[in-house]
Amino acid sequence: MARLCEGRVAIVTGAGRGIGREYALMLAEHGAKVVVNDLGGARDGNGADIGPAAEVVAEIKAMGGEAVANGADVSDWEASKAMIDQAVSTFGKLDVLINNAGILRDRMLVNMTEAEWDAVIKVHLKGAFAPAHHAAAYWRDLNKATGESVNGRIINTSSVSGIYGNIGQTNYGAAKMGIAGFSIIASRELRRYGVTVNCIAPGALTRLTEDLGPPVTDERREAMSPRWIAPIAVWLASEESAEVSGRMFEASGQTLAIAEGWHRGPTVKPVSDPTVLGPIVKDMVARARKNAGMDGQDLD
Ligand code: NAD
Repeated sequence: MARLCEGRVAIVTGAGRGIGREYALMLAEHGAKVVVNDLGGARDGNGADIGPAAEVVAEIKAMGGEAVANGADVSDWEASKAMIDQAVSTFGKLDVLINNAGILRDRMLVNMTEAEWDAVIKVHLKGAFAPAHHAAAYWRDLNKATGESVNGRIINTSSVSGIYGNIGQTNYGAAKMGIAGFSIIASRELRRYGVTVNCIAPGALTRLTEDLGPPVTDERREAMSPRWIAPIAVWLASEESAEVSGRMFEASGQTLAIAEGWHRGPTVKPVSDPTVLGPIVKDMVARARKNAGMDGQDLD
């Protein structure tokens, strides 16, 4: 088997369980040295335990790979910097950052508390920004020192709950849509150093989703295994993907797709009088493409 990431150094956040664990294992299988980050808290983000990250490190070592555990909270600015430094001091460099760590605190908007909003926004949005900032600064300095493309990769994690919208997840959806916008802008900023920035909107049965859909059968567990998402992450992490940046990939055991971005639809000349807008806006809405639902198809 050709190994896509031979000698590359990758950080995967939230890699103690679920999708991140599959990323870490497949990256190692493809020759990458991996920093396995996980805070090890509960599904809602409470608590901390280095156990899950250490177990994944042990799995990688057992298959002959190289890995090191990191227990940082990715939304902690200094701890994120230390995580980037750990990759460089342990393995000599950093090539890939996969921002995957995440939590859920679902609640209808009318009932959502300030704490539920703040926790989800912090882990997902600041938890993508902080490691990305410190990695980008490392790559900028490297690029300045060598004058060469650094072949860096940032792979962020969005969700169909954000880009298409899902009831009960205004906090999570806002964070995940924010990550989509963040990725598009970061991809434009970091191109000059040879860093690509892409997003994956995954779909898998993990502890985040097991109780949200129909009953979990063996067949469904296989069809929605998180390991189906790892191939696109590993390819994006490799040097082969240098030309692909600013894209949103939907990935699950059912599909691999590119979610296309917002496009300007029907357009009219601006008016100064809001009383004339009624028929104009109704006509524009009738001609505009519908928003997409969770399956990526037009909403009814
Ligand atoms: P998971 O709960 O199995 O894994 C998430 C991991 O992130 C956990 O091990 C957790 O300890 C870790 N984590 C949480 N907060 C952290 C923090 N502050 N610092 C470091 N680690 C932290 O869930 P999963 O389904 O594998 O989710 C992975 C990512 O995929 C998340 O960003 C999630 O929002 C996203 N996602 C998942 C699905 C799905 O269908 N499972 C769908 C859309 C998006």
